[in-house]
Parts: sequence; structure tokens; C-alpha cells
Amino acid sequence: MKKRVGVFVCQCGTNIAAVVDTERVAEEIKKVPGVVYTTTYKYMCSDPGQELIRNAIQEQKLEQVIVASCSPRMHERTFRTAVESGGMNPYLFEMVNIREQDSWVHHDKEQATKKAIDLIKMAIQKVVRNKPLQISTIPINKKALVIGGGIAGMQAALDIAEAGHQVVLVEREASIGGKMTQLDKTFPTMDCAA
Ligand code: SF4
Repeated sequence: MKKRVGVFVCQCGTNIAAVVDTERVAEEIKKVPGVVYTTTYKYMCSDPGQELIRNAIQEQKLEQVIVASCSPRMHERTFRTAVESGGMNPYLFEMVNIREQDSWVHHDKEQATKKAIDLIKMAIQKVVRNKPLQISTIPINKKALVIGGGIAGMQAALDIAEAGHQVVLVEREASIGGKMTQLDKTFPTMDCAA
């Protein structure tokens, strides 16, 4: 198992750095076996931040990268792209959320710093086991099969059809309508269910 892990700890201005001691996090993480490089930076998602990652991959010959910053929903794609342009497979990258899941929800700096260290240590154990992945494209049949012609099935079929796709709706009974057809009137309009 190759282990040349680089860990980049983002401060997000003071969003993270006001509650998490990012310098201490970087120092502690540097002691973890397999970690060959750690650094902090004010805004890791900025162009200079991404450049920092690309340069470190080249200069430190990194084989796995971790960015400890915000939610993957915000910037996982940003960092995967940066890692890839640095010459690495983008799936040998992991993101650790020390903002929404740490600095934004804690006030105790000592505890928040320890939590950040723990979260990153866990991600290190994952990233060293990651395998490089390749994106592949496969042809798909753009038709949908909806099983069950009750209210939910009928609505789903209509929504898909309105989005411009062919739909096949399958119902085992002789007629569609499901449980709705067993009712007389429906609240609050008291409309006839059928
Ligand atoms: S990567 Fe996320 S945590 Fe870091 S500066 Fe950008 S938005 Fe803030």
C-alpha cells in the first residue's frame, strides 16, 4: 500500500480558524504514519489554494490527498479537479468537513481541534485504501418502467412523461387506481375518489 499522503487544512478565513487551531492540527497530522506533507491555508478553494495543492503533488510526489475544509457538497468537485490537474487520479482524494461538522457547531477550541484531528485521521485510513477509479460512459435506454398503477405510480408516470420520456406503467390488477379506487369520498373536498 503506497503511502505518501498530503493533508491540506483550510482556515476559511476565520470560519474554521477561529474555533479550530489549524496550525496544531497540521502539526499533529504530520506525525501520522504515511503523511509526508501538511499545510494550512486561508482559502483552500481559491485559485492560489488550488495551485498550492497542485504544486505539492508534484514537489512532494503525493499519492493521496486530503483537504480538511467545508462540506464535500461545496467543493469536492473543485478539489477533485485540482488534484487531477496536479497529475493524480481524482479518487485518491478525500475531503474532511471540519467547518459544518466542527467549527460551526462547537465553541470549545480544544475539543474542536481534537475533533478535527480525529476526523482527519479517520480520512487518512480511508484514503490510503482508496483505489484509482476511471470514469466510463455507457449507452442507456432513456425509457422508464413504473411498477404499480396506484396514485404514486400514476403520478410518477405522468411526471416522467411530461419530462419527455417514454414510460411503461405496469399494474397487476385489471384497472389502475390502487387503494384509491376502494374509497368513496376523499377529505377535505369530499370528491369522489374514483
Ligand atoms: S474550501 Fe471551503 S472551507 Fe475552505 S475557504 Fe473554501 S469555502 Fe471555506
